[in-house]
Amino acid sequence: KYSHQDSAALRFNSTLREKIERKHSLEILLRNANYSKEFQLYFQPQFRISDHALVGMEALLRWFHPGQGMISPGEFIPVAEETGVILPITDWVFDQAYFTIAQVRQATSMPLQMGINLSPKIIETADLLISLKQKGVRHRVPSDWIDLEVTENSAMSLHSTIEGTFDQLKQSGFTISIDDFGTGYSSLSYIRRFGIDRLKIAKELVDNVAHDRNSQLIIQAIIMMAKGMNLRTIAEGVEHQDQLDVLKEMGCDEMQGYLWGRPVPFETFKQQYLPQ
Ligand code: C2E
Ligand code: CA
Ligand code: CA
Repeated sequence: KYSHQDSAALRFNSTLREKIERKHSLEILLRNANYSKEFQLYFQPQFRISDHALVGMEALLRWFHPGQGMISPGEFIPVAEETGVILPITDWVFDQAYFTIAQVRQATSMPLQMGINLSPKIIETADLLISLKQKGVRHRVPSDWIDLEVTENSAMSLHSTIEGTFDQLKQSGFTISIDDFGTGYSSLSYIRRFGIDRLKIAKELVDNVAHDRNSQLIIQAIIMMAKGMNLRTIAEGVEHQDQLDVLKEMGCDEMQGYLWGRPVPFETFKQQYLPQ
């Protein structure tokens, strides 16, 4: 006869086993993935709130597996990070993103930037700067066309290693945005020390900004602090006009979200957002 606890333990074990199996099969699929056939970068526009002007775009990876269909980055990026496959994947992302921003800047004189997500593993690799510079030479893309997105939590956990890396990246002309800001534990002194350019206010906070007093207080505090330190702020995951109204009122500089633009393939991006 099973006790309550036993059955709970069994249930836990079976879901845990399923998770491990799913992870393992993802790992195998990832290792065998044909990048140029199965991966595609989507691009989501980023806008200045005051005049709806396009300021940049974020590269977001999509994986279309021939048998499995579309697998979301929320699922496979963590597996890629754990298994080290994130290194060749990021190299591929760099090439595609650089290639694309070169085309974008050819099509317009607007000073648009390409945002690229960096996993903690990538920031720790010794040759990140070298590799970015090589891509710049190959694709004729100056560093200041590239904005590097680092999550608040990974930046915090890498604390000591990251300082020198950020310094070098900044000196080479890259800008740095802190992703998912407001959900972790950054301190003011830390943001100042790292020479951050922009804070991306986490979607979790933005979700509730229209109605929840707490989220409003936190976002307002972030924006005030950012202004005091001369950092730009961008709200991510803005879906509704009432959210945007509140953010605008609070002085948030930029937005990225379904309300003004979803992630799309470059062909679509070109048609929708670049001068024809
Ligand atoms: P993230 O960097 O926080 O990216 C924002 C996510 O929010 C994206 O999900 C984007 O599609 C989604 N999003 C943007 N606006 C809205 C909105 O208005 N509503 C809703 N519901 N969602 C919105 P996505 O593309 O599924 O990416 C998930 C995460 O995967 C990213 O979160 C990022 O951490 C990671 N990721 C994606 N591409 C790459 C990559 O090339 N390299 C690395 N290291 N990570 C990546
Ligand atoms: Ca991001
Ligand atoms: Ca986010």
